[in-house]
Amino acid sequence: MAFMNKKPFMIILGFLIVLQLALFYYYTLSVSREYRAEKADLSSQAFALTSSIEEKALIVKGISSFVQTAGFDADPALINQYLHNTYNNSGHVLSIAIAPQGVIRYIYPLSGNTEVLGKDLLLDSALSTPGLIQETIHSRSVTIDGPRMLAQGDKGIIIRQAVYSGNTFTGIVSVSVPIEDIAEQVLAGTSTGYVMNEERSLLFGSPVPEDKEQITVPVELYNQHWLLGTRLSPHKKWEILRSILWIELAFLLISVFTLYVLWQQGRFHRELERVVSIRTRDLHISKRLFEKLAHYDSLTEIPNRRFFMDELERRLQCTEPLQTYTLFFFDLNKFKEINDTLGHSTGDEVIKQLAQRLQGGKLPCEMLARTGGDEFVMLFGDIPREQIPDIAAAISGLISETLLVAGAHLSLSTSIGISLYPEHSQNAEELLNFAAMSMNAAKVLEDRNYFVFDWALREKLEQKAMISKYLHTALEREEFVLYYQPQMDASTGTMVGMEALIRWNHPEKGLIGPGAFIAAVEDAGLMIQLTDWVLKEVCRQLCEWREQGVPILRTSINISNSWFYNRNLIENLLALLEHHQLDTDVLEFEITESTALLEEHYPLLQQMRDHGIVVSIDDFGTKYSSLNYLKHFPVNKIKIDRTFIAGIGVSSIDETIIKSIVYVASQLGYDLIAEGVETPEQAEFLVRHQCPHIQGFLFYPPLPADEIIKLVA
Ligand code: C2E
Ligand code: MG
Ligand code: MG
Repeated sequence: MAFMNKKPFMIILGFLIVLQLALFYYYTLSVSREYRAEKADLSSQAFALTSSIEEKALIVKGISSFVQTAGFDADPALINQYLHNTYNNSGHVLSIAIAPQGVIRYIYPLSGNTEVLGKDLLLDSALSTPGLIQETIHSRSVTIDGPRMLAQGDKGIIIRQAVYSGNTFTGIVSVSVPIEDIAEQVLAGTSTGYVMNEERSLLFGSPVPEDKEQITVPVELYNQHWLLGTRLSPHKKWEILRSILWIELAFLLISVFTLYVLWQQGRFHRELERVVSIRTRDLHISKRLFEKLAHYDSLTEIPNRRFFMDELERRLQCTEPLQTYTLFFFDLNKFKEINDTLGHSTGDEVIKQLAQRLQGGKLPCEMLARTGGDEFVMLFGDIPREQIPDIAAAISGLISETLLVAGAHLSLSTSIGISLYPEHSQNAEELLNFAAMSMNAAKVLEDRNYFVFDWALREKLEQKAMISKYLHTALEREEFVLYYQPQMDASTGTMVGMEALIRWNHPEKGLIGPGAFIAAVEDAGLMIQLTDWVLKEVCRQLCEWREQGVPILRTSINISNSWFYNRNLIENLLALLEHHQLDTDVLEFEITESTALLEEHYPLLQQMRDHGIVVSIDDFGTKYSSLNYLKHFPVNKIKIDRTFIAGIGVSSIDETIIKSIVYVASQLGYDLIAEGVETPEQAEFLVRHQCPHIQGFLFYPPLPADEIIKLVA
C-alpha cells in the first residue's frame, strides 16, 4: 500500500472489522429471534397436542362415567350401542375397550380386535406396558400408555382410566389412538418436530438431532412427561446467513471501490507529486540559470552590472565605521574602431581576453564586473589614496599589453574614472555614476589617463545636464539675448561693424556664455533653430536701430555647419532681408575651421558671396587645414585667432605668423580682422603691420544692444 495514504486504508480496515462484529452480533440476534419464534410455535404445537390427547381422554372419562352408572354387567346391547355411538363421534380413535377387573369384555370396533377379547390387561404384557396398569388403578386418574405397538398391529397410544365402585376397583376403560393422529399435531408444517420421553428417547416424529441445538417445550400429559422438540431449520439459518452475506458483499464492494478510488487518487497524487517535483527541479535549474544569466555576463563570465550593484549595495549597508572603498571604472579607448574595422566577433574576443587578463592580473580587488560594452569596474577595499596612481597604472598595463586576436596584434589603451566611498557618496548608484563621469573627464586629459572624482567636475556636468534639459524651453521662452562686440578700423579707430554673440539669460543662474551651451545645442539638434533665431534677431535689431536713426553697420553671425543643412537656406535668407528691407551686405557669416565644412557646402557659400554676403573664417590659424580652407572655399574675410594676438611681444613665432597671415590676406584680396586685442601694444603691432580691422576688449567687450546704440550715437 505504499502507493496509497495509509490512513484511509486503516479506516476501511477498521470499518470492515467493526462490520464483521456487527454482522456477527446481528447473526446471533437473528438466530436467537428465530429460536424464540420457533419455541413459540412449538409451545402452540404442544398445546394442540395436549388438547388433542385431552380430547381423547374425555372420551375415556365419558365411557368411565357410563360404566360406573350402567355397571359392567349392564345389557351388552346397551353397552355396545354406547360404544358404537361414542366411537362414531370420537373422530380418529382406533378402538374403545371396556375391561371389568382388567379383562377385556367389550371392544369396538370388533373387527380386527377380536383376539384381544377376554385377555387380562393386568396379566398380558403385550397389551400394556408393565407396571402401567397398576399405576392406572392406583392413580384413579387417566393414564397414557405409549406410544407403543398395539395388539392390533398399529402404533399408537392407549388412554386408560380405572373404574371404581366406591373404593373398590371394578375395571378399566381405554381408548387407543393412532400415533399418526397425534403426530399430526406435532409435525404439522414442520419436518423437524419430534416427541421424546423424559429420558430423551424418541417417542415419535423426526429423529432427535445429535447437536445441542434442540428446541424443546415440556408436554405434561397425566402420567407422561414428554418433551416436544424441534431444531432450527438450516434453511432459516441459511436465510439469515444469506442476508448477512449480501450485506457483507455490498460493503466489500463499497470498500473495494473506495480502495480503488483511493488507489487511483494515490496514483494521481503520486503522478502529480512526480510532475511537481520534476517541475520544481526544472524551476530550480532555470532559476539558477536565470540567476547566472541575470548576474553574470555571458561573454566574459564575470559578474555583470546588476550583480556588482547588488553586491556593492549589500556591502555598503553593512560597512564597518572606518571601512573605505575605491571604485575604478574604465573602458577601452577607441574600442568602437575595433568593432567597426575588425568586426563585432573580434571585439567580443578582445573583451573576453581582457576580462581574463584583469581576472588573472592579481590586483587586490574585491570585485571585478563588466558593466557594459567595453566598460569594466573594479572595487578595492581599504586602499590608501596614494596607491590610486599605482592601481590605475596596473590596470592600464594589463590593458595595453599587446593582444593577439584574429591574427591581428592589437594594442589598446584605457581611461579610468575613480570614486571613493564614503568621501564622494554613500550610495552605490551614485558612486558608479561619479566614477563614470570621472572616466569621461579622464578621456580629455593629456598628462594621465585617470581622473579621481571631484565636486567641480560634478558641478560642470550638472550644469551641462541642466542646460540640455532646459534648452527647448529656453528657445520657446526666448531666454536668449544677443550681445554685440564692435569691430574697429585699425588706422582710424572708428567702428566699422560688430559681431553678434549669444548669451542665455537664465531666470535663475543669470547670463550664461555660449561656451557653456553651444555644444549642448548642437547635441540636442537645436542648432538650426538657434541660428535662425540669431539671424532674425540681428535683422530685427538692425531695423530697430535704423528706425532710431542709427546708421546700419555690418554685423557678423557665428554659424555652425549644421545650419548649412537648412532647407531653402538662401531663399529664406533673402526673404528675411527683404522683409526687413536690409541689404545683403549688412550680414557677415563667420565659419570656424572646426565647422568642418564639406565640399557640398561650396555652392551655398558661393551663392552667399554672389549675393554680397561676407563669409569669414573665424579663429583662423588654429587648425592644421587653415590654408587649405582658403584654397577650397569661397570666403572673403579672415579673423586671426586671439591666441596669436596674445603672443604679440611674447612669441616671435606668433608675430611671424600674424605677419604671414596679413601678407596672405593682402595677396589673395581677403579682408582681415584681428580678434582678442587686449593691449595697446597688440593694437600698435597690428596697425604697424597693416592689419585693417581690430576687435577686442581694448576697445569694447561684447555689449547689450542698448549700450551699442549709445556708442554709435
Ligand atoms: P568667437 O566667434 O571667436 O567669438 C569671440 C569670443 O572672444 C567671444 O566670446 C568674445 O567675448 C571673446 N573676446 C572678444 N574680445 C576678447 C578679448 O579681447 N579677450 C578675450 N579673452 N576674449 C575676447 P564668447 O562671446 O564667449 O563666444 C565664444 C564663442 O561662442 C564664439 O567664439 C563663437 O564661436 C561662439 N558663439 C558665440 N555666439 C554664437 C552664436 O550665436 N552662434 C554660434 N554658432 N556660436 C556662437
Ligand atoms: Mg566669431
Ligand atoms: Mg573667434
